[in-house]
Amino acid sequence: MSEIYEGVKFKTIFTGNDVPKDERLIQLKHWAMIFAERNLAPSDETGSAGNLSFRINKGENQFIITGSKIELKNALENDSFVTVTNCDIEKGIVYAKGIREPSSESMLHYAIYKQRPYVNAVFHGHCDEILNATEKLMLPETLKYESYGTLELINSVTEILGKESFIIMKNHGFLAIAGSVQEAGYITLRIHNETKKKL
Ligand SMILES: [Zn+2]
Repeated sequence: MSEIYEGVKFKTIFTGNDVPKDERLIQLKHWAMIFAERNLAPSDETGSAGNLSFRINKGENQFIITGSKIELKNALENDSFVTVTNCDIEKGIVYAKGIREPSSESMLHYAIYKQRPYVNAVFHGHCDEILNATEKLMLPETLKYESYGTLELINSVTEILGKESFIIMKNHGFLAIAGSVQEAGYITLRIHNETKKKL
């Protein structure tokens, strides 16, 4: 949790500078605002924050994701988002279109879309209330802490991914994994609300 943010850990190759245009960006901006209101993706001195994405077309692994170092509490414009067109996880390369660096967890989102063809939205946030409720809510959790943006982190998630819709990344944060942007948002709200209930 105290890790220093050193920027994205992969190389981005831009194949275009077009800003994403997609109706679902309205929903993504809405959930970014709710994440900010609920403090689910706090930006701290490390510059880390949450990242939200959705798959563009069925059967393809292209997705639209928040840009790196985007603070969700700010009103987001379309140029706060980047289109990731492909990833080479082994080589650590992200292919993107947009005017900013894609989120430092872009390869993690890519790996989830690749492994789960029916998943169309992935939300990642940081929230101590949720982390502290992992046991109480019996949430699936990665085996150990891995540094953000790394292949080890990706593997720690994909090995427990199964058909889960909500995963805890140990000592780090959470992932909501769903068939739509709205669903990913509502799963997150449901879990966050459950952490506030007394047993
Ligand atoms: Zn994170």
